[in-house]
Amino acid sequence: MFDFPAPVPPEEVLCLDDPQSGLSGVIVIHSTALGPAAGGCRFHRYASDADAVADALRLAEGMSYKNALAGLPLGGGKAVIRMPDAPFDRAALFRAFGRAVASLGGRYVTAEDVGTSVADMQCVADSTRHVAGLPAAPGAPGGDPSPWTALGVLRSMEVAVERHLGASLADVTVAVQGLGHVGFALCELLHDAGARLFVAEPRIEVAAEAARRFGARVMESDELLEASAEVFAPCALGGVINAASVRRLGASVVCGAANNQLATPAEGDALLARGILYAPDYVVNAGGIINVAAEHLGWSVDEARARVEATGARLAAVLDHAAAERIAPHRAADRLARAAIARAHRQRVLAA
Ligand code: NAD
Repeated sequence: MFDFPAPVPPEEVLCLDDPQSGLSGVIVIHSTALGPAAGGCRFHRYASDADAVADALRLAEGMSYKNALAGLPLGGGKAVIRMPDAPFDRAALFRAFGRAVASLGGRYVTAEDVGTSVADMQCVADSTRHVAGLPAAPGAPGGDPSPWTALGVLRSMEVAVERHLGASLADVTVAVQGLGHVGFALCELLHDAGARLFVAEPRIEVAAEAARRFGARVMESDELLEASAEVFAPCALGGVINAASVRRLGASVVCGAANNQLATPAEGDALLARGILYAPDYVVNAGGIINVAAEHLGWSVDEARARVEATGARLAAVLDHAAAERIAPHRAADRLARAAIARAHRQRVLAA
């Protein structure tokens, strides 16, 4: 099947190479059709330059789609920095990265991602103002995006459970995999909404805390997958829905915060074939990037909250499109995102 419109190729790739600080990696600007390309900076050990570039290309495209479907005036991009093998000065490395971001003149806006911290972004901010994820000013958006991500997942889950099961969160059991920044906050919201909880988390003291505070039943991660909960909420790892696990899933709704939950798009089709509703990850988990956008674009906390609260409505639109086109939700989300980017690109070309 030809999934129209076709994938959008990246606009720009900037190699990062500063031997003095040890900076080595790449910034990919996937699309600026909707606005400056926004997406975090990943700091990770890669086996080769080719692996780092491939990761950046994939992640930058994902950010374009996430930002487009979140209705943000932002395109998509990503930076990937290779962790040096030799000892290095972390502050100097991130200042050098900041200079590279500055050289793009605002076409790319960076923030934290896997392996980077607020302190790193403060070093980046020494060289450029095109950085978010800095400590929040009192009464302004910014700071830890996780509570916002958890709120968006909650609103999405309400919609998914209502549509697929005709139920409310108070009627269901949710299996939450991973009680980190997002997962734990989500458990709190779900508990307040009256849901029963099954949880899996390798840090046993955190799992015990969820049992104590929310009455959650603690399970092994593998057992959780097959548990008889109505909803499975992946909030830990990517690729958790793979060829092996897709057959074992006990839930009839998958809705969680983890990025790249489907190992391949085929698993999304397999979920549909099994009658399981998959709420596409990048639609559901956009609360964090909305908070980052609010910080960078100077929106109020109320504006940020309203946009995060609307995550459920955005998921509903994706599910409507999937139903109308008789395709799986993850394919519907990709199509809508590509169409939004193509539309914005056309308008920009016509206006030039
Ligand atoms: P985190 O590192 O704080 O939490 C991950 C948790 O998963 C940790 O507590 C870890 O111990 C646990 N874990 C690891 N392996 C596990 C396993 N096999 N079974 C169960 N638990 C396991 O990360 P986070 O910020 O909470 O993010 C969670 C996921 O959501 C990630 O995939 C992240 O990319 C995605 N995400 C996060 C945000 C955000 O705002 N933080 C936004 C969008 C997407």
